[in-house]
Amino acid sequence: MPRPRRHSPTHADGRPMKITFGEMRAMGLRGVLVYCHCGHHIALDADLWADDIRLSDLEPRFVCQGCGSRGADVRPDFERGDARVAIMGHAGSR
Ligand SMILES: [Zn+2]
Repeated sequence: MPRPRRHSPTHADGRPMKITFGEMRAMGLRGVLVYCHCGHHIALDADLWADDIRLSDLEPRFVCQGCGSRGADVRPDFERGDARVAIMGHAGSR
């Protein structure tokens, strides 16, 4: 699977490239939230993944326990980290 090392904003399949777990931890964030389009979501501990893995690298791997579809939206869990950082992020599509 090709992993472009440039400052490309998207993955090869067109999904937006998100920050790495290392960058997330540097921001003081300790967890991630995994959202499915059906509304199902789960909070996970960011310690499960290495620093050089991007949040968006994980998205195709998640299978929703609610509807069974693949391809969740993985976001930093700002509520468990520094809430000030959340101002920089987007509130989401809904
Ligand atoms: Zn679902």
